[in-house]
Amino acid sequence: MHVMNILDTLLYNKVYYKDGKTNYFYSSIFLIDIFFMGYLMKDSESLMFREYLSNESLESLALIPKSDLHNHASNGANVEYIKKLLNIDIEAPPECFSSIVEMEKWAHAKIKKFVTKRTRYEAAFIQAASDNISPLAMSFFRVEMNEFGTCENFIKMLKGMKKKHAPETFFLPEISYMGHSALDEIDYEYSLMEEILSYDYFRSIDLCYDGSAHPTPEFKNFKKIFKKAKEAGLRLKAHVGEYGKADDVMKAVEELELDEVHHGIAVVSSPQIMRWLSRHKIQLNICPTSNIMLGRASGYKEHPIRTIYDYGIPVTVNSDDILIFNQSVSQEYLNLYKYGSMTSEELDLIRISSLKEESDDSQNKQ
Ligand SMILES: [Zn+2]
Repeated sequence: MHVMNILDTLLYNKVYYKDGKTNYFYSSIFLIDIFFMGYLMKDSESLMFREYLSNESLESLALIPKSDLHNHASNGANVEYIKKLLNIDIEAPPECFSSIVEMEKWAHAKIKKFVTKRTRYEAAFIQAASDNISPLAMSFFRVEMNEFGTCENFIKMLKGMKKKHAPETFFLPEISYMGHSALDEIDYEYSLMEEILSYDYFRSIDLCYDGSAHPTPEFKNFKKIFKKAKEAGLRLKAHVGEYGKADDVMKAVEELELDEVHHGIAVVSSPQIMRWLSRHKIQLNICPTSNIMLGRASGYKEHPIRTIYDYGIPVTVNSDDILIFNQSVSQEYLNLYKYGSMTSEELDLIRISSLKEESDDSQNKQ
């Protein structure tokens, strides 16, 4: 039927252009066919995605549209790109880090001290464009702005980079707060929000904490920041359930009114909380390699995404820190397929549903 529609379009285009009286019919048929062609393209993208997974063709997978909704900008660069750019050798990371502190120490000593944050941001946009990522929710700690002068300068710089390196990517900049901030620091951050939100640039807010070094933070201390962000129309997210317990995830979602959870894999121990998340349609932005390399999952096959998906919780597949874990979003999909965690059909459904923010968000490409 789809093929017939394309033929119809081509045929009517030829015939009716010569006949002014039938333009009306031409237009309506043409529009209907464009509509079906859109579906046809989506269908063929799905077919190609599944075929490339089964062929384990990473280069081809990179051509298929995918989202990355959990991506730390300062760690979003491709390692090979940085190696070539700086003409340095970067040794492979260990198989597993004992903590986020150890991971960050390794990243600083082996990579970050050689390359400025500005260059890493640029490289992160380049990486996203090369992997056909759109939408891209890239997060920046609020404190990172301090390194670039004013908030206005920071946003101007990011807009320039995005335009230059990833013009076709639908960009959803995310502002992230430190989960273990003291109360006076939270007050200070809150006092800055008015100005930050006035630029109407950031599309989501995140709370990030190192669960390997700290206990779960007091979410209630951040309520006012999240409330203000919600009033400004931002999506609300937090890192929770990467470490810690299933209860932490439910608590954070309830207290901060989260729309999405970064990681959240600890919920796998609680069928009750998984059913609750499924009922409330809370999306978990999952980063399989990050979880494995930080010892939160024993492998791709055993990764909790399988069970979480089976409970009907919306999930997405993301990179977290490409510079350290050295896996693009395409590779993350391929790993889950190759190790038998998910079928190609399931991964395609995840891929398609995670593209939806692009159409949900009425903002332009920033
Ligand atoms: Zn993260």
